[in-house]
Amino acid sequence: MSEETLDKIVSLAKRRGFVYPGSEIYGGLANTWDYGPLGVELINNIKQAWRRKFITERTDVVELDSAILLNPKVWEASGHVSNFSDPLTDCKKCKARARADKLIEEWNEEKNTEIFPENWAGEKTPTSDLYEFININKIVCPKCGKLDWTEPKAFNLMFKTEQGVIEGEGTQIYLRPETCQGIFINFKNIQTTSRKKVPFGICQIGKSFRNEITPGNFIFRTREFEQMEMEFFCKPGTEMDWFNYWKDFTYKWFISLGVKEENLRMRDHEADELAFYSNATTDVEYKYPFGWGELCGIASRTDYDLKQHIEFSGKDLSYFDEAAKEKYVPFVIEPSLGVQRTALIVLNDAYTEEEIKEGDTRIVLKLHHTLAPFKMAVLPLSKKLGDDARKVFDLLVQKLGWNIDLDMIGSIGKRYRRQDEIGTPYCITFDFDSLEDSSVTVRDRDTMEQERIKIDDLLHYFIKKFIF
Ligand code: ATP
Repeated sequence: MSEETLDKIVSLAKRRGFVYPGSEIYGGLANTWDYGPLGVELINNIKQAWRRKFITERTDVVELDSAILLNPKVWEASGHVSNFSDPLTDCKKCKARARADKLIEEWNEEKNTEIFPENWAGEKTPTSDLYEFININKIVCPKCGKLDWTEPKAFNLMFKTEQGVIEGEGTQIYLRPETCQGIFINFKNIQTTSRKKVPFGICQIGKSFRNEITPGNFIFRTREFEQMEMEFFCKPGTEMDWFNYWKDFTYKWFISLGVKEENLRMRDHEADELAFYSNATTDVEYKYPFGWGELCGIASRTDYDLKQHIEFSGKDLSYFDEAAKEKYVPFVIEPSLGVQRTALIVLNDAYTEEEIKEGDTRIVLKLHHTLAPFKMAVLPLSKKLGDDARKVFDLLVQKLGWNIDLDMIGSIGKRYRRQDEIGTPYCITFDFDSLEDSSVTVRDRDTMEQERIKIDDLLHYFIKKFIF
C-alpha cells in the first residue's frame, strides 16, 4: 500500500459518487468533504453494522441522541476547556503549522526508532520538552527542510460559537468535540427510564467537531466528523475485565466486516501516555496508505467523568445496587470509533486491481456484503427489456428491502465494470432468453462466475447468499 493507493481511492470516490471535495464550486473549503449517493449508503451501512453489533443484538446496551450544543459547564467539568489542546508550532521560515508531538512521532517512524523526550506523553508532553527534543534532534520542517520552529503553544481544539440573537451578548458555547459527554450527563435519565442495571452501556452516534491543527489524508482527519461511542458503566473493580472484553469485541467487529488482519494492530498506551483519568487505554491502529495510525480507541475512563459532573452540576449521578444494597459511582469503559476513518479503511482494504487478461485490468471494490452501497444490480441486456427487468427489480427491492440498483445505460460489459468499481456483490442480467425461460444470469463480483437462476428462486437464492 502506498500514497498512490490513497490517490486512487480519492479519485474513485469522486468519480463514482462516494465523496466529493466540500464546497467545490466555490473553490472548496480545506479538508471538508461531501458524501454523495454511494458515500451516504456506505456511511449508513457502517453505522448500521455498528448499531446492530453493539446495540440491537444485546440486551445490556441502549442508545441516545443528545444535542450537539451542550451547556458550556459540561466542557468545564469534562476538562475540555482547560485541557483539550494540541501543541502547535509554526515554522518561522515557511509558516507551515505542525503538531510538535506528531513531528516527533513521524521522525521516529522515518528513522525506524523509538526515541522520545524523557517525559513523553504524546500531545500532553510539556511543550518545553517537545521544543528541546525537536531542536536537539534537529527535526526539520517537512515542508521547507529548515530548523526554525516557534516554541509549541497549547492550542484548544474546540470550536467556539455564540448562542443568542444579539452579537457579543450571547452565551459562548462550543460545538461538541466528542459525543460521550452527552451520555454522561444523561446517565441518570437513561438508567432510571430504561431500568437497566449496572453493568450496562449507552451508545451514541453523531457529529463531533475539532479545530484540528493538521487535518488531512483525505477523510482520515477532518474538523467535522462522526463518532460511534459507547460508555459501558460497570462496578468499580470489574473494569479491567470489561476493558479486555470490549477490546476483544471491538477488534472482532472490524474483522467481521472483512478488515484485513494484517492491517490491524492493538497498541496499549504506556503508563506515561495515559490520559490522567484513564487506568488503561488501547488503540486499534490501522496500516493506512500513509502509515500506521489510530482507527479507534478503547479507554478505561474510571469514574472520572461522572464524578466531575456530580461536582460541577451538584446532582447525584451515583448508582444504587438494589441487590447488594450498595451505592457507588460506576466506572466506565469506552470504545470510541470514527465513522469516516472506518469508511477509509474499508475502502482501502476493498480496493483491488485485477488483471483479467493481458492489458485488461478491472478495478473491484471487494466490500463486505453488509457495507456494499448496492447489494445487487439488475441489468436489462437491452433497453427493450427495461420493463421486464424492472419487474425483477421491484420484486427484489420490495421483498428484501435492500438497496438495489437498476442500471440500464451503456453496454453490459461497461455496466459490469461500473458495478465492480462500486462494490456491488451481484449483477442480475435479464436477457432475451429470460422472456422464454423465466430465468436470469447472476454474476458474482469477486469470482465473476455466472449462474442461471429461475426468477422464482431469486429471493431464496439471495437470502442464502447474503451474510449480514
Ligand atoms: P488522533 O490521535 O488521531 O487525533 P484521538 O486520540 O484524538 O485521535 P479520540 O479522541 O480517541 O481520538 O476519538 C475517537 C475516535 O474518533 C478516533 O479513534 C478516530 O477514529 C475518530 N476521530 C478523532 N478525531 C478525528 C478527526 N479529526 N477526524 C476524523 N476522525 C476522528
